[in-house]
Amino acid sequence: MKQPWNHPALNAFCQFPEKELQLGQILIIPLEDEERYEIRHASDRNASLEDLQNCNSSELRGWVATDALGRFRPLKSAPSLRRGWRHECDRASGLWEALSIIYPGAIGDWFASQREPSPLVSFRSFVDRQTGMYRGAAKLSRTEAEQLTAVCCADRHCLKSRYWPIETEDPPPSPPESQLVCLEPCQLLLELARRRAKTALEPTLTFKLPKSEAQSIIEALKTLAKESSADHRVADFSDPQNPRRLHLLLDQLESQFPRQTEAKGE
Ligand code: SF4
Repeated sequence: MKQPWNHPALNAFCQFPEKELQLGQILIIPLEDEERYEIRHASDRNASLEDLQNCNSSELRGWVATDALGRFRPLKSAPSLRRGWRHECDRASGLWEALSIIYPGAIGDWFASQREPSPLVSFRSFVDRQTGMYRGAAKLSRTEAEQLTAVCCADRHCLKSRYWPIETEDPPPSPPESQLVCLEPCQLLLELARRRAKTALEPTLTFKLPKSEAQSIIEALKTLAKESSADHRVADFSDPQNPRRLHLLLDQLESQFPRQTEAKGE
């Protein structure tokens, strides 16, 4: 891509040799007029111009604000970007603006991730500095934090590559290959951590269940987790059918009831 505009992070980002660049769910395509770029959804790669709606910057904000079902997207790196639009931007200041709308902070974070050492914020230091209703999140153990992170930051929920460690003294993870880099835990993860810490204080129930029936519950929850993503708000963890909440529960159940293989005819 042509090196445009004098902004260090964007200039470095535009050094990638590809004719076009995929970032998360978008394609950035240099146009024949080398001063201009086109951005569209990567799944619309082969769509004709007539099939896509041209949008300016303020219309682009509308396209990225909600998903295909009209739900607000609190996490812009969630893989729920709508299709059907194209945005042309003039020079790199336009590219910078568009990328700031679609993936806020992504170019700056990617640029920072290239530095040694990268400015990473561990899960522990992030939760330790919380106050008020989020203070309880600091009580989560490493294992609980790892479980929580594995669910919340999974590709099905977020396209950023987590680069921060759980504990501050942990060695930094290997640098991600993706250009969508996560340098510190986000508000959504904090909210899930708060809920996890709160439920750990609730009374527990003990009941006996044959292992094969536990597997039925797990399979039913998996189906529900898939379907619930269509109807439930992403950040509402008070909703028992919230997809992240269900996946966290599934993770806990599966670690206690490893899958049993039933003999044929049983
Ligand atoms: S903390 Fe996890 S879910 Fe939040 S932006 Fe980073 S990678 Fe995504």
